Amino acid sequence: MALTPSIFPASRSPFSKTVAVLGAGITGLAAAHRLTERGHRVRVFEQSGRLGGAIRTENVDGWLVEAGPNSLLADPAVSALIGELGLTDEVVQAQPGARNRYLVRRGRVLAAPLSPPAFFRSPLFSPAAKIRAVVELVSGRRRRTTDLSLADFVRSHFGQEMVDYALDPFVSGVYAGDPRKLSARHSFPKLWELEQTHGSLLRGHRAVAQARAQRNEPAPAIISFAHGLQTLPYALASRIPPGALSLGVRLEGLVPGPRWNVIWNNGTAAHTEAFDAVVAALPAAGLAGLRIGPLAERPLAGLDAIEHPPLASLFLGYRREQVRHPLDGFGLLVPSLEKRSILGVLFSSSLFPGRAPAGHVALTVMAGGVRRPDLAALSAAELMSAVREDLSSLLGVTGEPVFQRHHFWPRAIPQYNLGYDCHLEAIAACERSHPGLWIGGQARTGISLPACIAAGEALALRVGPS
Ligand SMILES: Cc1cc2nc3c(=O)[nH]c(=O)nc-3n(C[C@H](O)[C@H](O)[C@H](O)COP(=O)(O)OP(=O)(O)OC[C@H]3O[C@@H](n4cnc5c(N)ncnc54)[C@H](O)[C@@H]3O)c2cc1C
Repeated sequence: MALTPSIFPASRSPFSKTVAVLGAGITGLAAAHRLTERGHRVRVFEQSGRLGGAIRTENVDGWLVEAGPNSLLADPAVSALIGELGLTDEVVQAQPGARNRYLVRRGRVLAAPLSPPAFFRSPLFSPAAKIRAVVELVSGRRRRTTDLSLADFVRSHFGQEMVDYALDPFVSGVYAGDPRKLSARHSFPKLWELEQTHGSLLRGHRAVAQARAQRNEPAPAIISFAHGLQTLPYALASRIPPGALSLGVRLEGLVPGPRWNVIWNNGTAAHTEAFDAVVAALPAAGLAGLRIGPLAERPLAGLDAIEHPPLASLFLGYRREQVRHPLDGFGLLVPSLEKRSILGVLFSSSLFPGRAPAGHVALTVMAGGVRRPDLAALSAAELMSAVREDLSSLLGVTGEPVFQRHHFWPRAIPQYNLGYDCHLEAIAACERSHPGLWIGGQARTGISLPACIAAGEALALRVGPS
């Protein structure tokens, strides 16, 4: 085993900490950037051969393909980071028409209502569901002592029809998950808080919008970048010192002591390097596999039980005339009750400019998830056969795509299912028993990109001053 010479320049403050960051996804890179800014000396270890984690953009012949996340909600913290990184001119906003969303009911593609009057006119919901929504406006505060499923939570406010035709497709779009299994408290903590504070979710939502308007703060925009979401992890990586990022590195163990020894292997030899602190910005499987101490124990092995359904995304390019639907929106979501193969379709070329060559459109089809894991593992050709009928009957797609990319995510998104507290407690206990080890990312404080960026920034703060 080689003792690796330090890559850190000798000119840095002798008081700054050396910090090993595990994982070069958006969480790890946000942490590494902030740690560097605070004067710490970072070293990022990434097991794959590329940075960005789930964020992966490909640009081929005028098609801009996002294999993983497609868009980012620019909350004030995200906007501030983008400004600091000098990326403001690269931002592309979702086109105005992307406000529209479509849902399927009884085989018909219907626009989701965007305002209260549109809700009352919409054929998507029955008169009974509409009356139930009015009643929700006057619901009082509820004292909840235990968590409950997201489906039970929403049903208690709006009834079963809203669960089936609004919540279920929405949850497929965010988690590729099942609202009957997801924890209300952990999967959508903001909804949980709205209920605790306001009782009615509708009144709470209105109060939040009014408070934001009073602060003259616009609602967070949905954004990406002209060259795709990968712009952000690359910009973060450019802010850490040259040579501080190691790709293709297998982590063999962490040994705590007065300093942390990180044992890693780059495929040719094992190396040991000492650090003052370790930031673990890994998905659940990476955390579960962490071997800590001389006995190589796995204190987070229980995180292996977190459900991660497989997901497939099929990026399809067509000539404009091959698709009858106007594609005037963000996309289309399909409720489980409709018994279709697809979870939904993003209208990628309507969402952001520059996603398809002139005269063409791009669709991103999502399939699999908790609902149909069997579909996710199909080959590109098999998946295309499975979704062809849905594309034809729902969007009027004819003929073969002129461009196609297929991505398979064997463990796409952690499901914050009922009972998730035990995983959160295991993470907290691991930190308590290993001072100097800080853990965060998509398995702990939210799966969205803004949540992961916030997690990375919080990890850097928790390491403390230099
Ligand atoms: C298909 C898909 C679509 C999505 N769509 C959206 C969307 O539109 N908007 C949105 O906000 N969010 C979306 N998400 C969620 C979001 O992309 C992720 O939650 C987020 O990118 C996770 O970031 P992370 O850095 O925490 O983890 P990751 O991106 O998983 O990064 C962790 C990194 O750690 C590395 N690693 C793992 N184990 C080790 C180890 N032992 N040693 C060293 N390195 C290791 C991995 O290789 C990886 O690079 C989507 C996710 C998927 C999969």
